[in-house]
Amino acid sequence: MTIAVRFAPSPTGHLHIGNIRTAIVNWLFAARHGGSFMFRLDDTDEERSTQAFADAIAEDLVWLGLTWDRQARESDRYARYAAAAAALKAAGRLYPCYETPEELALKRKALLARHRPPIYDRAALALGDADRARLEAAGRRPHWRFKLAHADIAWDDLVQGPKHFRGADLSDPVLIREDGRPLYTLTSVVDDLDFAITHVVRGEDHVTNTAVQVQLFQALMGIEGQGAVPAFAHLPLIAGSEGEGLSKRLGSLSVRSLREEEGVEAMALNAYLARLGTADPIAAAASLGELAAGFDFGKFGRGTPKFDADELMRLNAQVLHAAPFDAVADRLAAMGMAGVEEAFWLAVRPNLSRLSDAREWWAVTREPVTPLVDDAAFLAGAAALLPATPWDETTWGVWTKAVSAATGAKGKALFLPLRRALTARDHGPELKTLLPLIGRDRVLARLAGEVA
Ligand code: GLU
Repeated sequence: MTIAVRFAPSPTGHLHIGNIRTAIVNWLFAARHGGSFMFRLDDTDEERSTQAFADAIAEDLVWLGLTWDRQARESDRYARYAAAAAALKAAGRLYPCYETPEELALKRKALLARHRPPIYDRAALALGDADRARLEAAGRRPHWRFKLAHADIAWDDLVQGPKHFRGADLSDPVLIREDGRPLYTLTSVVDDLDFAITHVVRGEDHVTNTAVQVQLFQALMGIEGQGAVPAFAHLPLIAGSEGEGLSKRLGSLSVRSLREEEGVEAMALNAYLARLGTADPIAAAASLGELAAGFDFGKFGRGTPKFDADELMRLNAQVLHAAPFDAVADRLAAMGMAGVEEAFWLAVRPNLSRLSDAREWWAVTREPVTPLVDDAAFLAGAAALLPATPWDETTWGVWTKAVSAATGAKGKALFLPLRRALTARDHGPELKTLLPLIGRDRVLARLAGEVA
């Protein structure tokens, strides 16, 4: 079997940690098995869906490297959903209901008051033609519910193991709204059948949807004589570090804000989310291919994984420390580091948590710095011993050995005053790499206490 999965966001907002994890897991599973990954926009909620969000989602996927083999948009497929709905009606599985939201709320309240589950009572099934005509004459328009079979529903979830529901315990789901628009429960199943999706991988908030959708798959397959119920994997939802639902902090955790405001690298986010909640230790990975090679649903736990921003930033630093120059050169240039060279990158990358931190070291090597001078005489002595150019990574060792021999200073007493004069900081990249980047003229001026 060739594996086919889909990631099906609704373009009603920016992607956040939770839904991008679903995308990553789908993508890795497909890649692991040589399958295909579809990007589907669930955009039938026309009031809330926007093209701007659809574009932003695509941009986030591309940024992460989660490219797709197939793409679909539900709003292009209304005719197909109408045909599926007509077939379900003809088969007696879709029935019109006329209750208003207020009436339904009252029914639910009454059931709950009697400690009964708030399952739709199917009152609409008892309506005769005359009742319906009367309701329609009074201006009511029907919404349409799928008539669930009161049978057992079971599947072997790839993450959660055996799942079991009884049709009688579930409300008949509304598939078509009063205005004729099809709802997600229907459109998703029609698409999964038409695009021969073999595995539906999504958050565990969809488990009850899956129970009713399994019956819907079966009903449509029975009518159309083709297709197969896909396998399912429901991932535990990610919680915040205190165990709170992520949605409360959704804005701050959009993929876009992580990228643009927090400076998160794509491969840090990929590796973090691929391994969160699995048996694998959370560690950086060089590529999606490496993550895919180790992908296995068997590694996913049932517990609620907690999002830990510090851990993500730790991976971010690891990714930067290993990043080759050509992977970042354009971005550094776009941050204003025109003419940046590999030597600069190699010098500063071990000190970065975010790529934009490189700007600070760019300024130290290329822009005027006010040196921190503790002992002007010591610095003047060091200046007198500064080797002639050309400089390379050995220059620092040669120079400090000479300064040490002349002054008797060693260790911190030798290095710290030089670092503070040359960089105006107590910490930073190794001075043997920074020294040639700062250059002899600036070094001499800073040793003399001048802003240079
Ligand atoms: N549009 C649905 C969502 O974003 C898709 C769920 C599914 O994968 O079927 O929750």
